[in-house]
Amino acid sequence: MLTEKERDLLREALLAEKQRLLRNAQDGLAFSMNRERNIGRDSIDESMEEELFSTELRLRDREKFLLSKIVSALDRLEQNTIDACEDCGEPIAFKRLLARPVTTLCIDCKEEREREELSQSDMAHGGAGGGGDGEITADEAGGGEEG
Ligand SMILES: [Zn+2]
Repeated sequence: MLTEKERDLLREALLAEKQRLLRNAQDGLAFSMNRERNIGRDSIDESMEEELFSTELRLRDREKFLLSKIVSALDRLEQNTIDACEDCGEPIAFKRLLARPVTTLCIDCKEEREREELSQSDMAHGGAGGGGDGEITADEAGGGEEG
């Protein structure tokens, strides 16, 4: 069970991340609007512009996805279940939660799942790069999980 102070810290981290995503989403919107105004300009190669645009759409998909994870993490925070591992029910270490507030797995289950995903994705998509379609990689938090 988390203390009041720990929950406050997590709430802060989640709200800050939410703000950041919303700002990014707004930037994305401005980008699309600029694009419409720039149609007809011949300085940008068309295919390159297509590429830019689809990258931007992907980004917004990812943001939407992350946003929904943050919202449900806030929900779990209010219900005091944020530190319960989805798989085994054991408490998730506070340090891990603070680094990745949207996580729903304790480090043991996370590592196990990553091993499974690794062996599956080896066969499924021949190393298309990528992975990590889940948790926020917190740039600011410095990254790195010491278990
Ligand atoms: Zn677990």
